[in-house]
Amino acid sequence: MLSVCELQVSYQKLLLYRSSDLSQAVALRTLLGRCMQFFAKDNLQKGVAQDRPASCGPRQNLVVSWFSAGVSSAVATKTANPDKIIYIDIDDQHPDTYRFLADCEKWFDMKIEVLKSPLGSVENTCYAASFIRGPHGAPCTTRLKKRERKLWEMDNPGQHTYVWGFDSNEKERAEGTKKAMPEYNHFFPIIDRTKNEVHGILEHAGIKRPMMYDMGYPNNNCIGCVKGGMGYWNKIRDDFPEVFARRSAMERKIGAHLLKECYLDELEPGRGRNKIVVPDCGIFCEIEQARPAPKSATQNTAESAKNSIQQAECETASCP
Ligand code: SF4
Repeated sequence: MLSVCELQVSYQKLLLYRSSDLSQAVALRTLLGRCMQFFAKDNLQKGVAQDRPASCGPRQNLVVSWFSAGVSSAVATKTANPDKIIYIDIDDQHPDTYRFLADCEKWFDMKIEVLKSPLGSVENTCYAASFIRGPHGAPCTTRLKKRERKLWEMDNPGQHTYVWGFDSNEKERAEGTKKAMPEYNHFFPIIDRTKNEVHGILEHAGIKRPMMYDMGYPNNNCIGCVKGGMGYWNKIRDDFPEVFARRSAMERKIGAHLLKECYLDELEPGRGRNKIVVPDCGIFCEIEQARPAPKSATQNTAESAKNSIQQAECETASCP
């Protein structure tokens, strides 16, 4: 028998799902909503307080690393020595990611908890949303990553400390994270280290970084990340032609662009070469999506795009 509190949490969890994602969720949502109304009335008569917390489990204040399976995230996790390490998996990760996870588990001497959305892949998510990406982000980040984190938070209430792998180039993002999630504490263990130093630490520990870096990508995002630029997509066409073909077909079926310049099947092979721009994903970008746009948005966007290009080129050229 569910308690009122458990019922409330179940209802809040279901609210995170959209009708397009899981049709069963809609029916369950309606049923639970009715139960909630029934119990609320019953409890009101008994004088039970209605302002119950969002979760009913015991509160624990944990140090949690939201591990993204990238190099910076690995070094930050190792430095922080957290109580819990959580990785949110997506079908589109390069298979070498799982080798990296296993190596990191040994290095951390701790099991990595894996969460995964029932939607599974970027393609499923985009089709379910009839949308690929826009100025406020991408449905894959929100539905495959943010939602899983929120579900975990409902099951694990507490004033946790989250560990982030921001380096010395990302101090602004660290400040943004603190403002976007004031209900948690935040720890940035590698904030004074450069990207090259961080890669060096991992190499020195004898851990081979994920293969995507060695292939020339600036991070270990999904293969065929919807946030990539023209150079990124021309490289994906060379390295993963099947992924390129599937994303091209998806664009046409949904009728939405991945690139702002053109459809993928119109992309000329020479465009954007040597400019592999693809922002880091993970929990970072969903937090950035939640931030209000800065006043000089145009100027900042141009500046950050320039920085991303420089960062990508620098990292690809100088890392082992
Ligand atoms: S890495 Fe790219 S494709 Fe994968 S979830 Fe993040 S934004 Fe979407």
